Amino acid sequence: MVATGVERGKRSHFPEVEMSAAADPIELTDGVKNFVDLSWPLDASTIFWPGGEGFQLCMQCCSCCDDRNNSKYDYAAGVITCAEHGGTHVDACFHFCADGKTVEQIPIKTLIAKLKIIDVIDKVVVDRNYAITVEDIHLFENNYGELNQNDIVLIRTGFCKNYQLGAKEYLGFDEKVDGEYDINTSKLSFPGISMPAAEYFVHRRVAAVGLDTASLDPGNNKYFDAHRVLLTNDVYGIENVNDKILALPCTGANIIVAPLKITGGSGSPARIFVYYS
Ligand SMILES: [Zn+2]
Repeated sequence: MVATGVERGKRSHFPEVEMSAAADPIELTDGVKNFVDLSWPLDASTIFWPGGEGFQLCMQCCSCCDDRNNSKYDYAAGVITCAEHGGTHVDACFHFCADGKTVEQIPIKTLIAKLKIIDVIDKVVVDRNYAITVEDIHLFENNYGELNQNDIVLIRTGFCKNYQLGAKEYLGFDEKVDGEYDINTSKLSFPGISMPAAEYFVHRRVAAVGLDTASLDPGNNKYFDAHRVLLTNDVYGIENVNDKILALPCTGANIIVAPLKITGGSGSPARIFVYYS
């Protein structure tokens, strides 16, 4: 007999709960109609940087049997493990800068910002390792106005369409037969940011730069030039945003980046929300 009168493992049935669930969503901001989640799910399909530990969720209370009602506890509580740099995530400046901010030190004022999207899909179609140029940024600024201090910039390469095809299509290298990543990074192949473009973003003093690929640098850049330039200049990174970026406007939206508050972390999986009218 459970004290609440609710059958173990079942939903309660209160008429007022059902009424509120059927109500219209709360309008958070006047005129805002579009709310978009730019994060890939964290599960067995999540793509990590080569060699990074994949995502695991161990639902401990149910591990002893399939029937939750017969498990030891009357609640579910799992244990999660994964590398910091996998799926949709943030690169804190500490990732490439020993005295840079760790992930819990990123100021909230740089996690909530105006979103600017620079589209280079046409360039990537003809060059899988395309590196966004200063000219690409100038073209954006000619069309939409200058980037501003504390903007968050996302590069739309279109590579997000490869994510759900798996690591081979998305990262450009083969997986071993047993499913382990081949950490021969010489095979990596995907678009990213050139060093001059990274320097230009620093010049504009944007808060963060991200993209819909696995790295700020193109796959064929072995020196992590864009990482070094951005993260040593207090511009944090965002990697692996999902394919919802394909339908977003280049300007006029706001973004909220929410990494876990991991003390001392070099990065973290993140939920990323965009909203616009
Ligand atoms: Zn990363």
